[in-house]
Amino acid sequence: MSKASAYAALDSNTPLKPFQFERREPGAHDVQIDILFCGVCHSDLHTARNEWNNTQYPSVPGHEIVGRVTAVGSEVKNFKVGELAGVGCMVDSCQSCGSCAEGFEQYCENGFTGTYNGPAFGGENTLGGYSDHIVVDQKFVLRISHKDNLAAVAPLLCAGITTYSPLRQWNVKPGQKVGVVGLGGLGHMAVKIANAMGAHVVLFTTSPGKKEDALRLGAKEVVISRNQDEMDAHLNSFDFILNTVAAQHDLDPFMALLKRDATMTLVGAPSEPHPGLNVFGLIFKRRRLAGSLIGGIAETQEMLDFCAKHNIVSDVEMIDIKNINEAYERMLKSDVKYRFVIDMATLKVA
Ligand code: NAP
Ligand code: ZN
Repeated sequence: MSKASAYAALDSNTPLKPFQFERREPGAHDVQIDILFCGVCHSDLHTARNEWNNTQYPSVPGHEIVGRVTAVGSEVKNFKVGELAGVGCMVDSCQSCGSCAEGFEQYCENGFTGTYNGPAFGGENTLGGYSDHIVVDQKFVLRISHKDNLAAVAPLLCAGITTYSPLRQWNVKPGQKVGVVGLGGLGHMAVKIANAMGAHVVLFTTSPGKKEDALRLGAKEVVISRNQDEMDAHLNSFDFILNTVAAQHDLDPFMALLKRDATMTLVGAPSEPHPGLNVFGLIFKRRRLAGSLIGGIAETQEMLDFCAKHNIVSDVEMIDIKNINEAYERMLKSDVKYRFVIDMATLKVA
């Protein structure tokens, strides 16, 4: 076992604080990684505060990990000591069900193992990336194609893949009109990626102050979603909408913007259900409402390579780990441009 330093939530209503625990020694198939940077996802906050009612404490969040390999097991062929490596939202899955066989480990029929908050049913709790190192089976370790700006690469491991996967799954094509709802960590990646796929991106925000940024990030139009006239100008016109909002809200105004047969996919995961859906809005245009969970490992690698090729990284604000609780408060106020990333070197001096 090796000693790990981290920040953990010990319960749902006190701030995260320094925490020590032990990681396993790397086994034959494992890669040990010194964590350089870890992005701060809204899911970290939902989990630390038990907003999904499933948190196992102590909880060490963090699933947007970029680091350097410090040890590999005897059977590890694809990673060498000294190389960069990434870890996203999963560290294991059954590898034998139909979903795993198809490369959709996130839909593992026996339940994938999250990078933190571990197996859904029983088993050991997993502890995530707000820590100095991590040990992960090589099948769940990603190759980093970017050469520099590594702090800004970390958020691709969750925010990047969670938006890339549905854009690919719903086959977004050049020239299509694609809506992105919410300009946070996920939303700003969705704008960049959909733009790189050639879509005409329209960003929906509740924050008028984000308009200029949205245009700079790749949106062609920005709609203030609380302005009815601005919304009405886009009725029945979208090929696809990706909704990244982290809070309960009315979905009907967005469903009304879809063309016949088009889909709105939810990736935001608020703890409270959205208000009732207007069924007539669906049936009169055969519209679809869908959901999507992160992405498979092969698809995550594809996304990293796509982003490297298109020069896409996240817009980040670096923080010391000791400021993580303040960062959570700011994230709740949508006051982040557009992803906090923890410089893990600050853990050593915290
Ligand atoms: P974030 O950075 O906090 O962004 C969320 C955005 O939602 C905000 O920037 C804001 O955008 C909008 N928003 C917040 N409160 C709102 C409200 N009351 N009404 C309308 N809009 C509101 O969060 P994130 O890290 O991108 O995560 C977003 C959600 O996705 C979270 O629930 C997270 O748990 C979930 N998630 C899901 C997956 C998955 O696999 N499906 C993966 C990762 C995260 P504007 O200021 O532009 O309005
Ligand atoms: Zn996440």
